[in-house]
Amino acid sequence: MDDRPREACGIVGAYIPDHDVARTTFFGLFALQHRGQESAGIAASTGVGIKLHARMGLISQAFKEEDLEDLPGHVAVGHTRYSTMGGSKQHNAQPLLANGPRGEIAVGHNGNVINASELRRELSEQWGVTFDRSSDTEVIAAMFARAPGRDWFEVAWYAMRRLKGAYSLAIMSKDELIAVRDPLGIRPLCLGKLNGGYVVASETAALDNIGAEFVRELANGEVLVINKNGIESRIWPAARKTHAMCIFEQIYFARPDSILNGQLAYDSRRRMGEQLFRESAVEADMVIGVPDSSIPHAIGYANASGIPYGEGIIRNRYVGRTFIAPDQRMREVGVQMKFNAMRTIIEGKRLIVVDDSIVRSTTTVRVINMLRAAGAKEVHVRVAAPAIISTCHFGVDMATMAELIAANKTVEEIREHIGADSLAYLSVEGLKRAVDVSDDSYCKGCFTGKYPIPVQLEMDKLALEPARV
Ligand code: SF4
Repeated sequence: MDDRPREACGIVGAYIPDHDVARTTFFGLFALQHRGQESAGIAASTGVGIKLHARMGLISQAFKEEDLEDLPGHVAVGHTRYSTMGGSKQHNAQPLLANGPRGEIAVGHNGNVINASELRRELSEQWGVTFDRSSDTEVIAAMFARAPGRDWFEVAWYAMRRLKGAYSLAIMSKDELIAVRDPLGIRPLCLGKLNGGYVVASETAALDNIGAEFVRELANGEVLVINKNGIESRIWPAARKTHAMCIFEQIYFARPDSILNGQLAYDSRRRMGEQLFRESAVEADMVIGVPDSSIPHAIGYANASGIPYGEGIIRNRYVGRTFIAPDQRMREVGVQMKFNAMRTIIEGKRLIVVDDSIVRSTTTVRVINMLRAAGAKEVHVRVAAPAIISTCHFGVDMATMAELIAANKTVEEIREHIGADSLAYLSVEGLKRAVDVSDDSYCKGCFTGKYPIPVQLEMDKLALEPARV
């Protein structure tokens, strides 16, 4: 298992009159591959009916040229998935289709609904819905297909009253696109303009990738309905006043070139590195980042400290994620395949190694061993995020409480365990300063144990899977 928190999903929706938009959706998804690598899918419609193509694997593996040609239409929804609820199976690949009085819809979801089991029971008892998949998205799809309401806004208000947790959604009917950001605004969602139509996507980097003009991020509790009449936006009147966006999007999940809450993630990360130096300076010869995600933080640390930044570790960008390795021995080989330390650059040096997070610590231990084997004189680990002391319930797969090293050991015990000369984390206050957040904005639950809504502490991502006999 790669020792990183894992993001849930990426979504794209497009409505462009007189254009086939499946290809646009594909390239939007392509920019969001980092948000999920298990399956990919696109649903599209010409206004008559929805056609769907969804497969396991990376976006480039899930689609061939002819698959896109087979998805004509001016409205489309696309999805790339990492499972946080429901197993990694073809039947859970999205977008998901659902039928109801308003006709067929296709739903792409990023997030995690924490009361999905309860709602699933209720919808099957009260509405007679048959569920044959195991993801929370199926519950969302059933709700949007069948909830009472005279228009999509009333349907969304009904759903928002019932669904608890994180859900950024791109939904399509045969001739409309509906975008929804949950009332807490936990997962990102943005709006762009393209060729006289509109595009929504998890991150602004996806808009850049398809040449769309960034309009704005959706507000928490906002619903957009896009159809032949144009675009209409409304905000659920009961939505939280301030958003509770996942602060880990700023630290690690989102691409550095995406804008989140008005800030370029790269700049936020650089400021985290600067703040980390102010909180935990140490003498050293060189600052390096664990590639690729920690590089902006390391540059920030180096700039603030005046210690030169260097690339001590090279990452093989073409190697698959190490969680494909089936056993411990293969996992170790996996990490060696992924990173390589450059002896001539680091030998004899006192290093500051900046990382963006430590979950279980398995990768950190191997990186430190690798640096020492390559001749580093000292290895000081600086983590550009606070210690992760609690699990996530809103669409990020981290580890169980028992596996989270900072939930079970002190900083000194972790230092000893990973074999570093010193170890320091960014404080929660320092993180807030770097991202410029007020006390009640952003979810910081995995660092503080306090969540924007009550949660059940250990949730099983396979809770909706049928029981094995
Ligand atoms: S618990 Fe952590 S990872 Fe989960 S949404 Fe909150 S800040 Fe993000």
